[in-house]
Amino acid sequence: MKTVKDYIRTIPDFPHEGIMFRDVTTLFSDPRGMRLAIDQMLAPYVGTRIDKVVGLEARGFILGGAVAHQLSVGFVPVRKKGKLPGKVISQDYSLEYGQATVEMHTDAIEAGEKILVVDDLLATGGTAEAGITLIERLGGEIVSCSFVVDLPELGGRKKLAGLGYDVHCLCD
Ligand code: IMP
Repeated sequence: MKTVKDYIRTIPDFPHEGIMFRDVTTLFSDPRGMRLAIDQMLAPYVGTRIDKVVGLEARGFILGGAVAHQLSVGFVPVRKKGKLPGKVISQDYSLEYGQATVEMHTDAIEAGEKILVVDDLLATGGTAEAGITLIERLGGEIVSCSFVVDLPELGGRKKLAGLGYDVHCLCD
């Protein structure tokens, strides 16, 4: 039987020369792959209180929407700067070259809500950490962070675990 990893392809030299891009669109486009990924993302949280799923732009929206639907909870997007129409809070974070900013609507999360963070891939952990910071600034409590792929050599998992967060990844 195929595993989640078997559905993911690697595209060399994207978006820059020397980068091996892990492309999950082939996982999403296969009905068995998509079902397998969502089922495996949900499995650790059976019986756990989760009030909202927060998905990180952009592939975290696809996975997070499906996970939220299965849990019968709401979905909240963390978006790149300038995309959300309402009042937002912003968080800067470092990229390999330069900086980026993510935003969340100020009324998207209420203090004390239990949050599951979802994205496709964990590399340095900078994107996830910025999303976590936004959630915590609004008083949300992180239950766990769920990713399809972990790139262990980039240290994101260790970083998030070192900060005390629960992290689940389907493959690395
Ligand atoms: P980090 O902030 O360094 O952990 O990078 C993770 C973010 O970059 C996630 O939002 C991913 O979607 C994206 N990302 C980085 N590398 C890849 C890749 O090889 N495939 C898909 N997404 C990637």
